[in-house]
Amino acid sequence: MCRSHLELFAVNLAIGDQQMSLAAQFGIRFRQPGEAKARTSPTASSRLQEKRTTQQSCELVDGLSVDLEDYYHVEAFAEQISRARWSALPSRIRQNTQRTLALLERTGCRATFFVLGWVAEREPGLIRELAQAGHELACHSHLHRHLHGLTPSQFRDDLARSRYAIENAAGMKVVGFRAPSFSVTRKTLWALEILAEEGFEYDSSIFPIHHDLYGIPDAPRRIHRRQLPSGRAIWEVPPSTLRIGKVNLPVGGGGYLRLFPLWFTRWAIETIHRQDGQPTIVYFHPWELDPDQPRLQGSWKSRLRHYNGLAKTEGRLQEILSHGSFQPLINLVRRREAFSQAQTLNLDDLASTKELDRRAVV
Ligand SMILES: [Zn+2]
Repeated sequence: MCRSHLELFAVNLAIGDQQMSLAAQFGIRFRQPGEAKARTSPTASSRLQEKRTTQQSCELVDGLSVDLEDYYHVEAFAEQISRARWSALPSRIRQNTQRTLALLERTGCRATFFVLGWVAEREPGLIRELAQAGHELACHSHLHRHLHGLTPSQFRDDLARSRYAIENAAGMKVVGFRAPSFSVTRKTLWALEILAEEGFEYDSSIFPIHHDLYGIPDAPRRIHRRQLPSGRAIWEVPPSTLRIGKVNLPVGGGGYLRLFPLWFTRWAIETIHRQDGQPTIVYFHPWELDPDQPRLQGSWKSRLRHYNGLAKTEGRLQEILSHGSFQPLINLVRRREAFSQAQTLNLDDLASTKELDRRAVV
């Protein structure tokens, strides 16, 4: 286990043991057993009604993203499962994506699906279904290769192939990108130039944390527009982090969502809203909703990263998504663009501008 995960694991254990006292320190009130049942048992319609009421009183819109790949595409097993073997393995992508769609339907959320081009070529009907359900389709590369192992020319080719497959299947333009394993780091920032040259409007690959495989720890934690050396620019939509002292703690996505207790994730989301005035950017994978997926051979570290907490993921997401207003990432970018344009126009009604600032993603 890498150092960062050891730390996270330790934090998780500590939180589990001292949950009540820590919660009290953070000002969190736990639901009583009766309350918990009452909140988890209402019908879908009453849950949506409660959510609509919440949305009316809270203007902040959060971003939701799904990295659309199968259980054998992941980095954790890349050394054991060669790409030549992918086609021979039993696919779970269709059933897990349908499960994801049902979850989003139940909770009234829309998302950005960062699709692997390899998947779009094999499941065009599934991609079309996502587009028809109102979700955004974006690019997650073609073969899930780390950017560190690609030349700029190879990256451009991979990008073009995957984008063509996704656009062809979805019938919509693709303007967003997320690198496999968040592999836009200091060494691969050149990729942003290529994305901008190819007409991508935003990237969501820079994780502002310390990690053994990815991350730029001092990168901005909020949605921002990055000026590139060429003079071009691109929006960056970083996954959510919580600032604790001088450290950014990843929250609300993937393994971190499975590792931390639900109460902690919900508190983290509320804190990002309240203290930072920012939306949260949540991400997950369809295979994380599938505790019955075939077990792959791999190192104990890989198995821990991949299989920990699978049985709890769907319930946790149900709770989080039911209590928020989650939209595709392009919607957040558009809101931020609208805010920037309002600033450029130099509106004399400063109060309105501030209100727009508060409501926009900033
Ligand atoms: Zn991925």
